[in-house]
Amino acid sequence: MKRVLLAAAAVVLVGGLHAEERIDLSMTSRIRAEAFNRSQVMPLLTHLTEEIGPRLTNSPAMAQANAWTRSKFDEWGLANVHDEAMAEPFGRGWEFRSASVEMLSPRAFPLHALPKAWTPGTSGPVEGEAIAAKLESKADLEKFRGKLKGKVVFIGEARAYKPGEKPDWKRETDETLAEMKALTVPADEKPGARDEARERRRQRMEFAPLLNKFLVDEGALASVSASGWDNGIILVSGGGSRKAGESVGVPSLAMAAEHFNMVMRALDRKQAVRLRVNVDADFTSDADQPAYNTIAEIPGTGPHRNEIVMLGAHMDSWHAGTGAADNGAGVAVMMEAMRILKAVGAKPDRTIRVALWTGEEQGLLGSADYVSRHFGKFAEPTDPKEKELPAFLRKARGKLEPGRDYNKLAAYFNLDNGGGKIRGVYAQENMEVAPIFESWLKPFNDVGATIVTQRNTGSTDHISFDRIGLPGFQFVQDGLDYFTNVHHSDLDVLDHVVAEDLKQASAIVASFAYNAAMRPEKLPRKPLAED
Ligand SMILES: [Zn+2]
Repeated sequence: MKRVLLAAAAVVLVGGLHAEERIDLSMTSRIRAEAFNRSQVMPLLTHLTEEIGPRLTNSPAMAQANAWTRSKFDEWGLANVHDEAMAEPFGRGWEFRSASVEMLSPRAFPLHALPKAWTPGTSGPVEGEAIAAKLESKADLEKFRGKLKGKVVFIGEARAYKPGEKPDWKRETDETLAEMKALTVPADEKPGARDEARERRRQRMEFAPLLNKFLVDEGALASVSASGWDNGIILVSGGGSRKAGESVGVPSLAMAAEHFNMVMRALDRKQAVRLRVNVDADFTSDADQPAYNTIAEIPGTGPHRNEIVMLGAHMDSWHAGTGAADNGAGVAVMMEAMRILKAVGAKPDRTIRVALWTGEEQGLLGSADYVSRHFGKFAEPTDPKEKELPAFLRKARGKLEPGRDYNKLAAYFNLDNGGGKIRGVYAQENMEVAPIFESWLKPFNDVGATIVTQRNTGSTDHISFDRIGLPGFQFVQDGLDYFTNVHHSDLDVLDHVVAEDLKQASAIVASFAYNAAMRPEKLPRKPLAED
């Protein structure tokens, strides 16, 4: 009991120490008025997603998006507007125009499928019989050697339809927000768990190119796998290979699970299923090309003008929808936040820089490259086997090599959880920022942004900052139907974002950027964890 009381007293003291976080409420009012009453966020998002369209990394549309966002930043009078190439070439560009899979027998029926990125087209319609093949290991390949010529290979197994257990559309409530504030103390890692994960990952990485080459060598016409989601939604990402010189395999598609199952049931009944497949898709370069982040700034005007506050969101998307929620919404909000700051005549002490990242969907590549060149990185492993693994699966991460601007970054804010409004911010186990963020959220409590949670959230570009000890943060957003229907699927189009929500988010992001650029100190950093 005594202990509990002591702990409570300490919390009050910490809160008390930071109670003087000063906020310019006159500026906050101007930011809110510009964001709520003269918003440009939907016109921006509409242009990005409906005029330019999906923005696969290194596709011609992504290059258009880089050029268009630069032109908007120029128009608004931002400084240092430029594209920055990643140090390592990303790979080839790819785009597709159409895809169809028709069942010809046992009866005519259109099957819904979309191509995997970085797989070849069919060069016109091709016809062949479907064959079911579980191809998950080298032994599986041997089993099917000589059996796939001229066939459309249905890879994997039928998946039973599962009625949805959770509602499709979700807004956080006071109860769920309160739950989100609770942090679960982690259990000990199971001994060997990380080694097993490394081994599984390595096996997958080794098997994918073998399978590509096997299907080509065997003369398969195309391959089809089941969409990861039910209800006719096509969840599809990449296949083949984006790297010049590697096998891209045969034309490969993801099919609506219910249609995939229908074909599999016919094959189970030993019926011949004849299909016509037509995919119009192209690689847009023969050689690997660099990928580009788009960068722009509002230069600082005060004594800390050499320090930097960054805003960011990834501009690349997958190709099945138009990348409206993932992550056109984040891009439009970050652009709008910069426009608002210019429109209200903000003269920040520190420089406010925006980055629209490339290659996020392939592993946070654009932000990781930028952070490593500007802010710092861990020494690369010398063992080539370690080097090819993603950073979080490596045995040791090496020594931090701080870059030129490591001590100049005041804060980084990211938005990448769909088209829902901001409900708070993840503090990433940085206890010192919590009271600061709480006071910054206060002027937005009335529009639903209330919580600071110590939880870590991952899977997007703030991690590129967080993992080298820089204060990088992602906002808590209302989920809407992002993780039930939209993420990486053909439903990721404009209908699944909410205009009022993005206006709210733009105001909060502009205000956070301004506060971070004006406070006397940079945001406190958490101690860099030992490996
Ligand atoms: Zn995303």
